[in-house]
Amino acid sequence: MPFYMPAVQQTDQNSGDIAERLLAHYDVHARTLPWRKLPGQGFADPYHVWLSEIMLQQTTVAAVGAYFRTFTQTWPNFSALAAADDADVMAAWAGLGYYARARNLLKCARVVVSEYQGQLPSYEADLLKLPGIGPYTAAAIAAIAFGRRAVVVDANVERVVSRLFAISTPLPQAKPDIRAATDSITPDLRAGDFAQAMMDLGAGICSVRSPSCLICPIQSACAAFRAGNPEIYPAKLPKSPKPQRVGHVYWIERDGHVWLLRRDDRGLLASMRALPDDGWTARIDGDAIPPAAANWQNLSVQVAHIFTHFSLTVNIAVTSWPADADGPGEGEWWPLKSLDNAGLPTLFRKVSEAVLNAGER
Ligand code: SF4
Repeated sequence: MPFYMPAVQQTDQNSGDIAERLLAHYDVHARTLPWRKLPGQGFADPYHVWLSEIMLQQTTVAAVGAYFRTFTQTWPNFSALAAADDADVMAAWAGLGYYARARNLLKCARVVVSEYQGQLPSYEADLLKLPGIGPYTAAAIAAIAFGRRAVVVDANVERVVSRLFAISTPLPQAKPDIRAATDSITPDLRAGDFAQAMMDLGAGICSVRSPSCLICPIQSACAAFRAGNPEIYPAKLPKSPKPQRVGHVYWIERDGHVWLLRRDDRGLLASMRALPDDGWTARIDGDAIPPAAANWQNLSVQVAHIFTHFSLTVNIAVTSWPADADGPGEGEWWPLKSLDNAGLPTLFRKVSEAVLNAGER
């Protein structure tokens, strides 16, 4: 073991070899995905690439498939999406999480229609000016939809490249090194296929816990494989635990309907349809004050949910509302039999299921 281990090690092959081997493997083994064109079939529809890349941010391929199909069937291009009703888009997004993405999706579609005649720009610099498009997404769209050379680094690519070059600096400090290393192996031609090949390698062969190095097309260039320790990459600093919050969600029922409101247009789950709650956020617990004076009954079940920045445990209180009385505050009575169409975020869907399964109403 040398006294000094460089943070980025050399591979024993030139960058062209790595790209060539990976692309040859991709030509045979590319994943078939609804938004993708297979090798040799030309570039994918930019609208499909953009939509899928937004949906895939912090979400798995398996979870995105059905949403992608719904969106492309309902709104097949930028013009259709730009003209959509905000509430319909938010409802169609419900369950996919990270709802700021859906709001930016709409904003972006409207800018593309008003400023770019409904066609995505093809350069990273122009893409970066659009709502909801950061460096990764801009690079992915430029490469995959337009064939431009761009350095595309998502979490899968980070893992593959940090192993290939045995980059020992922990994330996120390692990001510039990983980007530079990815740049050094990205080919001038077929950069989009190369990016997708890297993503496929990371999603399949070069998996988080047990990489299948023996069938890896770039094994001979991999510094971590040679050292026999690929699982230690990418290095990460220990995570601080998420704050634990507690709160209440309230179920108010009247004559086969439940009371739903629209959340504030800022903050967590902004603008989404929801059940009333007691004001919990990532920073504070709920105050346990119900939205109205009523005969509340607490359910014996609790619902747990993990948001990006905190974990939440909710207690559920239910009440029956007088048949002839208006609901508390602003909201709407939503028919229980079509609750699936309300577009409730996952937390409130879980609460609804808990109430409807409890039989304690
Ligand atoms: Fe990943 Fe193993 Fe391939 Fe290296 S040899 S890139 S660790 S699968």
